[in-house]
Amino acid sequence: MLQSVKAYRFFILKAHVKLCFCNFIKHEIHSVGLNDIPKITVTDIRKLLRQKGFAVQDGYTSFITKCAICSGDEKNGDSKVYVNKRTGYFVCPKCDIHGDWNILERLVKRAKIEATIKDYIEKMHQNACQFQKDWQNILDNTTSMSKLNEKEVLDIFRLFEYPYHHEANKVLSDARISTDHTTLYFPLKNAIEKVIGYRKLQAGREEESESHGMHSAGLFWCKAHKVSHNAQAILVPSIQDVLHLAAHKIPGSLVWLNNCNLPPVVLPTLEGYQKLCLWGDWDNMCTVAEKLGEERCRFVRPTDGLVTASETAAANLSLKTLVSEAKPAAHRSITTFSALRDDVYAELTNIDKVRGVKWRRFPALTRLLGGHRRGELTILTGPTGCGKTTLCAEMSLDLAQQGVNTLWGSFEIRNSRLARTMLQQFAGVPLEQNLQDFHKYADDFEKLPIYYLAFHGQQPIKVVMEAVEHARYMHDIAHVVVDNVQFMLGLGEEREGDRYQRQDTVVAAFRTFATARHCHVTLVMHPRKERESEDLSTSSIFGSAKASQEADNVLIIQDKRLTAVRGKKYLQVAKNRYSGDLGIVPLDFEKDSLSYQSKKKNKTKEDPDKLLDQYFEAYSINDQNYDISETKKSNETNKSQNTKQSTSTYLSDILSLNRTS
Ligand SMILES: [Zn+2]
Repeated sequence: MLQSVKAYRFFILKAHVKLCFCNFIKHEIHSVGLNDIPKITVTDIRKLLRQKGFAVQDGYTSFITKCAICSGDEKNGDSKVYVNKRTGYFVCPKCDIHGDWNILERLVKRAKIEATIKDYIEKMHQNACQFQKDWQNILDNTTSMSKLNEKEVLDIFRLFEYPYHHEANKVLSDARISTDHTTLYFPLKNAIEKVIGYRKLQAGREEESESHGMHSAGLFWCKAHKVSHNAQAILVPSIQDVLHLAAHKIPGSLVWLNNCNLPPVVLPTLEGYQKLCLWGDWDNMCTVAEKLGEERCRFVRPTDGLVTASETAAANLSLKTLVSEAKPAAHRSITTFSALRDDVYAELTNIDKVRGVKWRRFPALTRLLGGHRRGELTILTGPTGCGKTTLCAEMSLDLAQQGVNTLWGSFEIRNSRLARTMLQQFAGVPLEQNLQDFHKYADDFEKLPIYYLAFHGQQPIKVVMEAVEHARYMHDIAHVVVDNVQFMLGLGEEREGDRYQRQDTVVAAFRTFATARHCHVTLVMHPRKERESEDLSTSSIFGSAKASQEADNVLIIQDKRLTAVRGKKYLQVAKNRYSGDLGIVPLDFEKDSLSYQSKKKNKTKEDPDKLLDQYFEAYSINDQNYDISETKKSNETNKSQNTKQSTSTYLSDILSLNRTS
């Protein structure tokens, strides 16, 4: 048991133990397996600790008690261990030991420490010592920003494009700068303000920041100079935001929450704050608040399309006023319009942000759907063998490359095969012919926030949902892909009616998850057996009408290559709840890169395929215009009849239109 737990943890923590373990985990994929779902409840944790005579303090996200490992040492005095209430994962900021609940459980239960656990602790201790040496080395070879003169600081700020104000060097006094003034080191501190990791930024290569040490458990924060002490923390996604807040003398700790990522292991660092103010992308901050405990969180709402503190500062608005007017995050089950009006206004003034993350590989799809939004359910279907998985892999890869944390549940094909497909799409070249570059591609691919459920074949929905929920908590998942629903359900011998019912349960579970957890869910589903000559429609999805009714988006791959001489393959947007725009996106497969992404046009003018492409593109735009008014009409009828029947009849009309024109 311990062995498997260890192996898994090394995945998650691999960056900070890179020195020791990099070789053996190097090209594994991130996976979430059955053993990773903690089987522990809040009550169990509290009960055991109390039974063993530990005083338990009930925090926002953790139980806090004395550390069973280091509290014996005199010099450590009152050391505290933080036990995550949801997972039981523990961290001691003093001795740097962290691990799964079952390790702490054994330590607490038994008087004598087992050899395996002793090794585990020893190894972790060595890593921590090594890091302290590395950090000391950096301190010796760099300068504090506060030691520089005004001109030097100004030059550095210009180089990094940071907002300068005359006390900026004092605000960044913890940050270190290399002697050539081109590399910044930001210390990442834990709950007792000990440096346990650092983030390294090189001028001109800010996108590729490097993190070292136990970085996922630490945060960089600073305070505005000469501002009275305040027990609040303000969490923002970038260092620019931190500097703007400092320039405006906002009281409290200004915390850099890199890209709004919040791994559970960092939660103890923020446990001491009774008031947290979150300022950043609305969707991301909602999930951050949920993890931190909504009762102590407040949001700064986006105003007039200005989402971040930096954007707001650029528009010359008072940051202080906005922070003081931040609204509570906790929502009540019954609400009034006055409570909602800020949300409505924010949505209206942030249309472009609301439209979601845009696909770079599929501009025509982005035009139709606006983008990929959290909280929505998408159904993708198409005939057997038409490339549903390949297309879905590429669409999700596109988003992951833009920072959308993605969880894949591949129930039909093995994770290794799926990862290979995605790696080839990522590289854009056939891997078997480019083996010399394999490690380069794999290293870059590994940095993408893509996780795979370590399940295969038939699985009970309860187990799948538990794993999905756990992964969401651990890795801030924003997009869940299930490929495909029929394989997850397995090929039972039951009657068709029962099968439909089970499938409806799955669709309902993911619908609820998407809405409640603010996640996008894509379900790949098989169509019903239909005559080959006919186009598929929303009503061709296998099972009852529930799937297409519950979905926000229905995407259908239409493959006409076998049935028509000039037949093409295209992706049809058959339902789009966000804007109502429907239409088609041509799909051309490029074998070398396993890619459907749209190609550069007009290389050879006479190529009939290319002309046909243009025809399809033009057609999809016409279609779109035509659809807007029609869909609105159909939506209205929908509302009055309170049924979605009219949409599907309407869709089949559209589909016949497609055929005849
Ligand atoms: Zn300890």
